[in-house]
Amino acid sequence: MAPILDFTRISWHSYWWDNDPPLRQDHDNLPTEADIVIIGGGFTGLAAALVLARAGKSVVIIEKSTAGYGASTRNGGITSASIRPSHAELTHKFGGDFADALYLEASTARQDLQDFCKDEGIDAEFRLSGWFKGAMSPGDYDTLARQAEHLNRLNIPCHMVSRADQHSEIASDKFHGGMVEQDIGGYNPGAFFAGFLRVVRDAGVQIFDETAAHDIQSDGAGGKLITTNRGSMRGGVVIVATNAYTGGREHRFSRFLRRRIIPIRSSIIVTQNLGTARVKELMPALRMYSTTAKLTTYFRPTPDGKRILFGARALEANPSHKTARFLYHRLLDILPQLQDTLQDTQIDYCWNGFVGYHRQKIPAIYSHDGVHYASGYAGSGTVWARWCGKKLAEHILGGDNAPSILIRQPPKALPLYNGTPWFLPLVYGWYGLQDRINQRRRH
Ligand SMILES: Cc1cc2nc3c(=O)[nH]c(=O)nc-3n(C[C@H](O)[C@H](O)[C@H](O)COP(=O)(O)OP(=O)(O)OC[C@H]3O[C@@H](n4cnc5c(N)ncnc54)[C@H](O)[C@@H]3O)c2cc1C
Repeated sequence: MAPILDFTRISWHSYWWDNDPPLRQDHDNLPTEADIVIIGGGFTGLAAALVLARAGKSVVIIEKSTAGYGASTRNGGITSASIRPSHAELTHKFGGDFADALYLEASTARQDLQDFCKDEGIDAEFRLSGWFKGAMSPGDYDTLARQAEHLNRLNIPCHMVSRADQHSEIASDKFHGGMVEQDIGGYNPGAFFAGFLRVVRDAGVQIFDETAAHDIQSDGAGGKLITTNRGSMRGGVVIVATNAYTGGREHRFSRFLRRRIIPIRSSIIVTQNLGTARVKELMPALRMYSTTAKLTTYFRPTPDGKRILFGARALEANPSHKTARFLYHRLLDILPQLQDTLQDTQIDYCWNGFVGYHRQKIPAIYSHDGVHYASGYAGSGTVWARWCGKKLAEHILGGDNAPSILIRQPPKALPLYNGTPWFLPLVYGWYGLQDRINQRRRH
């Protein structure tokens, strides 16, 4: 029988906002100038701001909406620093040294996030749970096993779980075994953002909400003039940290980034309170979870262990009954036990956000025409965005003795693309077909 969802109980906003909503900042007048102007108040912007402010620079963040309103408080909180291309794919495209360096940097960035929370006294409800990636076919299991060999060679701790043993990870028969990466965990992104914001403001950074940058021009004296809806200001250095929320043609400055970043809608649902015992029954290892499907899904227990959070691509601009139903069916596909014959598990939250991809599906830190950028975390920015913002700031200051491998030439623009990803339905159709064929494979 089809599950019956009670849509009236659903809150159509981020689960994390109940306790930590994005808060209005309180500065009135935009200053006329600052050493550093950062456009975008998410993890990337905050991370760059903190390093630069602590180096003695005057730093202003201008934010179109409210700091944190973008992806940074809408995400699933899986702190994976995942790299979309496998080690083998990266080796094929860029060489083994680059692949090794990038995977090692991801591991360093994950540890850096934990250290940061500890050092700054941010209680983000972080738990080093490990991350189980379920294989959708026997062939995917073999590919994961080869990936595990590469990671173990780099001393990144991970292990394979056979199909026979996978019930110790997840009460599902959907997978052909999987891989566990042990140095990956999860946190509460709302709590993390709130703590991060406090630290950044304590460092003297000024944050201006409801201030949209429109244009960036040279000021003729080595700096930039930034035009906003609340007047103009000069910045010695400008950082664009708008990532997947870069927006449209109304912001002239964004033309360069718009042609390089693909905003992809992602949706999340959170179940009703199931209780810790029931969640543990369904997810015995209480890890973070995802799959090898091309149309990937991700799921996890909420930090209190009482609910299940489940994410996948979004169907529509705004979350709706259709979105909630779509995600719910995908969750049931993995955990059919949730559809109890007496009472179906209900959904309490459903929301959308954008994740940003570059063509090569790896993050990048770069400069163009005297403006600095960090973007394209491919749905894994809880670690990467903070790390890339920090590395970009260190690069601007000079003298960074551990520069990031992600500092490179700007990502390539996509042909016939100006910020509206018209091709996504085709890509989804193709990925869906590949997934269906893959799941029928016996080997
Ligand atoms: C539904 C969802 C689930 C996700 N799940 C995970 C996960 O489990 N794990 C993980 O690692 N990552 C996840 N991510 C990705 C992660 O949240 C992002 O990569 C990360 O938050 C990006 O941070 P950011 O600071 O670069 O961008 P954002 O947080 O999006 O900040 C960009 C800011 O720029 C502002 N802006 C845009 N244009 C202008 C302008 N013209 N002037 C001024 N300001 C402007 C926007 O308002 C926005 O606040 C998820 C994302 C979504 C949407």
